[in-house]
Amino acid sequence: MTGSNVRYGAVIVLAVSLGFASLHTIPMVSRDLRLLHDVYAIDVQGIRLEGELQYEIQKSRRRFLRILLGTGKPDQLQREIQMLNQGDATVELLSSQVSQLGIPSSSQELFQQKWGQYKTKRDLLIKTEMRSQTPKSYGAHEGLGKEEFFPVEQAVNDASTAFEKASAEHIQEVSNALNGALHELVALLAITLASLSLLIWIDWKRIRTEKQLKRATHDLLVSESRFHQAYESASVGMGIFKLDGTILSMNQKAAEILGYEIDELIGTKGDAFVAPEFRKNHEQRIDLMPGSTEASYQAERKVIRKDGKTVWVRNSVALLNTAEGEPHFFSITEEITRQKEANDRLAYLANFDPVTNLPNLHYFEEILAAELEKCAPGEGCIALLYLEIDSFDFVKGTFGRTVADEILNEVGASLSQFRQEGEVIARLDDHVFGVLLRAAPYDEATLARATQLREVFHRASQFSKHRIPLSASIGIAYSSDAGRDIGSLRRGSVGADADTLLKYARAAMLEARSRGGDSIFLADPALQERAAQRHQIESALLRGLRENEFTVVFQPQFLVVTGRLVRFEALCRWHSAELGTIPPDRFIPIAEQTGLITEIGRRVLHEALIQARNWTDSGRRIGVAVNISPMQFMRPDFTHIITEILALTRFPPSLLELEITEGIFIRDLNLAVSRIRELQRLGLSVALDDFGTGYSSLSYLQRMPIDAVKLDRSFVRDLTTDQATVSMVRSVLAMAKALNLRVVTEGVETEQQLEILRSLGCDEAQGFLLGRPETAEMALRRVLESPLQSIGTLA
Ligand code: C2E
Ligand code: CA
Ligand code: CA
Repeated sequence: MTGSNVRYGAVIVLAVSLGFASLHTIPMVSRDLRLLHDVYAIDVQGIRLEGELQYEIQKSRRRFLRILLGTGKPDQLQREIQMLNQGDATVELLSSQVSQLGIPSSSQELFQQKWGQYKTKRDLLIKTEMRSQTPKSYGAHEGLGKEEFFPVEQAVNDASTAFEKASAEHIQEVSNALNGALHELVALLAITLASLSLLIWIDWKRIRTEKQLKRATHDLLVSESRFHQAYESASVGMGIFKLDGTILSMNQKAAEILGYEIDELIGTKGDAFVAPEFRKNHEQRIDLMPGSTEASYQAERKVIRKDGKTVWVRNSVALLNTAEGEPHFFSITEEITRQKEANDRLAYLANFDPVTNLPNLHYFEEILAAELEKCAPGEGCIALLYLEIDSFDFVKGTFGRTVADEILNEVGASLSQFRQEGEVIARLDDHVFGVLLRAAPYDEATLARATQLREVFHRASQFSKHRIPLSASIGIAYSSDAGRDIGSLRRGSVGADADTLLKYARAAMLEARSRGGDSIFLADPALQERAAQRHQIESALLRGLRENEFTVVFQPQFLVVTGRLVRFEALCRWHSAELGTIPPDRFIPIAEQTGLITEIGRRVLHEALIQARNWTDSGRRIGVAVNISPMQFMRPDFTHIITEILALTRFPPSLLELEITEGIFIRDLNLAVSRIRELQRLGLSVALDDFGTGYSSLSYLQRMPIDAVKLDRSFVRDLTTDQATVSMVRSVLAMAKALNLRVVTEGVETEQQLEILRSLGCDEAQGFLLGRPETAEMALRRVLESPLQSIGTLA
């Protein structure tokens, strides 16, 4: 039963009880009260009337007696009789009044009857006495009419008693009725009171509930307004959609992202804003959602703005399944265009070189691998041009990184212009570029392209801001050859293939560079084989350095005239755990190209000086010659390294000779000259190795501040067979004499050769005839066996 039902019930009960009380009980009570009042009034009147009646009849009797006793004058008697008659009238009146009070008629009638009898008797007596005129004594008259009067008195008393009894009964009756009515009234009042209390209690409860409800409603309103505020001012877009995509609501940010006003969006279909390429996926996801266990999904996609532009958004859509009403979609949208752009930039940086805006090595390798994958098995279809800008280290060293980057940027632009449809041009390393093009093996078109490419560099330098002459060495390799089995490099994975192709092309470039640069070299199978081996050696060299696989041997040099031991040439030996013993002619050039020569050379120098210290410690002035590769020599810190090792080994600088080749002069004559002078100031001497094999002419010797020349062993080999060689050696020796240079001949294998050299006046000789390269112990033994000379004779 609910409160309101109780309320209705209580109201009905209240109304009924009040109605009943006012229509029935209260009138009844008031009537009874009136009745009671009346009854009491009658009772009182009755008692009074009875009393008066009693009094009047006693008075009437006494008057009667007096009349009988009266002797008085006749007029007095007459008055007495008159008064008696008046008393009779009063009795009659009282009696009639009494009879009106409702005294039981029997006693009333009895009184009337007795009163009548008495009156008759009295009046008779009075007449009789009046005639006799004899007054009687009072006593005599006492009994007079006694028997008539007494019943009157008795009747009055009886009537009085009867009246009183009847009256009391009446009062009782009325009181009882009143009592019942009052009980009824009390009961009704109790009911009314109970109903009223119930009503008040219900109302109090209702008011309390209403208050609570009001407060809850207020709280709800506050929280709703907060939510609304949050929704409206959120920094992400929010919207509520029908399942068919109709927009029901959208916040400011969401409208902002789309470039509309909110009003323009309400009622339109949300799907229409999704960019076409994302629409299908969006629709699929949305369609699946109501039935699936996933209540939300997230996606990154483009949306179309009002102005037609597209922006990237991250969108999460959730299905709202409320207890009431149909389900809706709630979507949160965040604009991520900038993030996307930043990601694109990162992706760009991952694949492109920011200096030249060309693809980088990583990206190039990826493309190359993908292109090779497309080639039919066994058939070549790709040519790779590997290009290095000549002498760019020199440009960097001279002009600095900023200028170098500016030049590279210009080169990048030129290369982008040069690029044709289907070609890929990338920056593979600092000043190394790769060009990928489709080609038939060894076709003319590729060569023509390479030639044009070379010219790009000539032109680029002409139009460059810095006008620094540029040239490039270009190596070309074809995928048809990269597919062949060469050494241990087999066609395995595509990745290895791309790798191999790059290596062949690079080998060809190195070949082009070694031919003086500004040239093109085609990777032929022999070169490629060497390239394959070169690759193996490169990786083995790294391991060799790590594992300290390099040792030093010493080959003696003697004075030709006296045969005295003057120094040893330190020669590097490498026994690789992987590849076995590799001759220096093979690994030194590779170490040079990879830059590993710096470390190898440093170790050889250190070891050589440690051993040579043993020779000088024996008191003999035996020198040591160490080969220095151009790269090593041209390093800015080379002089520092030499000084350090000399100090470390405490070896006399005057006994150290550095063997350099003319390659250093070709790179940078001025730098080479100043470097040599710098070293000479330390006290050591510099010898030009392999003289006669390169480009340098005799007159060249003049311009080099060297201390000695080492005549290449090819001259010595031909001395006995070729007269022209003899004349050449003679002029070299003459020139050397004139320039005050020492001449050392190497590769002396026979007595005959030595004899000719002696006759020509050569200073020093080295060769298998005189001594093969030997271990440090053997060298020391040779030193100790040699005659001890005083410092003086050494000068
Ligand atoms: P190189 O400086 O001309 O060294 C002389 C080479 O001639 C040595 O070969 C030596 O063993 C060889 N030789 C000496 N006498 C004779 C002979 O009578 N007949 C023949 N056929 N050969 C003779 P090796 O030791 O194989 O060195 C080859 C080249 O490797 C050297 O030529 C040098 O250019 C380079 N090299 C060796 N050690 C080093 C080093 O520590 N640093 C640098 N940068 N290069 C080195
Ligand atoms: Ca040498
Ligand atoms: Ca040599």
